[in-house]
Amino acid sequence: MSTTWKPATRLIHGGTLRSQHGETSEALYLTQGFVYDSAEAAEARFNGDDQGYIYSRYANPTVTMFEERMCAMEGAEACLATSSGMGAVSAALMCQLEAGDHVVAARALFGSCRYVVEKLLPKFGVASTLVDGKSIDAWKAAIRPETKVLFLESPTNPTLELVDIKAVAELANEIGAVLVVDNVFATPLYQNPLELGAHVVVYSATKHIDGQGRCLGGAVLSTRDWIDEKMFDYFRHTGPSMSPFNAWVLLKGMETLPLRVAQQTTSAGTLADYLAEKNNVKRVIYPGRDDHPQAELARQQMAAGSTLIAFEVEGGKQAAFELENALEIIKISNNLGDAKSLITHPATTTHKNLSDEERDTLGISASMLRLSVGLEDVGDLQDDLEKAFTVSARA
Ligand SMILES: *Cc1c(COP(=O)(O)O)cnc(C)c1O
Repeated sequence: MSTTWKPATRLIHGGTLRSQHGETSEALYLTQGFVYDSAEAAEARFNGDDQGYIYSRYANPTVTMFEERMCAMEGAEACLATSSGMGAVSAALMCQLEAGDHVVAARALFGSCRYVVEKLLPKFGVASTLVDGKSIDAWKAAIRPETKVLFLESPTNPTLELVDIKAVAELANEIGAVLVVDNVFATPLYQNPLELGAHVVVYSATKHIDGQGRCLGGAVLSTRDWIDEKMFDYFRHTGPSMSPFNAWVLLKGMETLPLRVAQQTTSAGTLADYLAEKNNVKRVIYPGRDDHPQAELARQQMAAGSTLIAFEVEGGKQAAFELENALEIIKISNNLGDAKSLITHPATTTHKNLSDEERDTLGISASMLRLSVGLEDVGDLQDDLEKAFTVSARA
């Protein structure tokens, strides 16, 4: 692969391991293990003299193609593919922490990420502090001598707040900690945390990278040294590996990622502007709009807006439910990044496990909806919303 290739080219050709048959599309190596020509060859594999494959929990050629293509897109030296986004997040955190360590994380986190930081890590003697990610002073105030990892996502789910990744990375470097960034919402096309100074990037490939609602997957990207020294042994002995079949589906997804995300972002911008003009909408939160509270930061660290919009309707939970129920094209689902437009009511679904107080702190009100914009005709989507507003206003 040439280093001058642009992302769209890398996402189609990056990491391809063509077999002796010269197949056009990536081969699917649906195998658990590998056979050796001799006992000596097996010995050489196991002692590292021969770099070939041993067992698909450690590595598999189709999964390698996915990992290499992720590296090519992200500009990372190394990647490990995981069975899901949470497999990536939990492995990236657990592999480098030990009892007595401390983690600081932004409070606005994907629900399961928050569980890992707030509930799971403390069971193993790793303390954690959740802070308002928007405030660098809050990050600084939470630092302890034993702080080893800083963790954040930006934009956040579902309120689309931003965290200044560069500033938090500088803080991590000052104290010798590792900054882990969950880059799902921005997608690898619109934000490069490694370039902004993060040490480790994690993805749920389930979202935009598949983008067609088919399979789960995840990825952890960092330097070759970090992956080899901190993560590889943890990964191969605990087994959050990606299935070769899922890697193959995700490789196909990557080929069309730039086209899909560009279209979804353009449509999201159009719909955000439409929603901002509606009388029954109290507030629209969209990182591509000038009225986003952190519009300046969005321009600095993101190449474009987002495929997601958060908005609040007049009339609380009842009005939000009526609007969802009146939609025809836009489906009610907690997933995101799909070709199908999906809407969810975070307070009663993805964020239902938080206390009322925690939801208030995060700004997740009963009238908030999160819309993941898909690939349907944007005029049809706008009509769907317009009709639903009319029907629900009558209800
Ligand atoms: C979906 C998601 C995850 C978890 O990914 P799975 O593939 O569902 O395990 C983690 N972080 C963010 C921001 C997500 O949106």
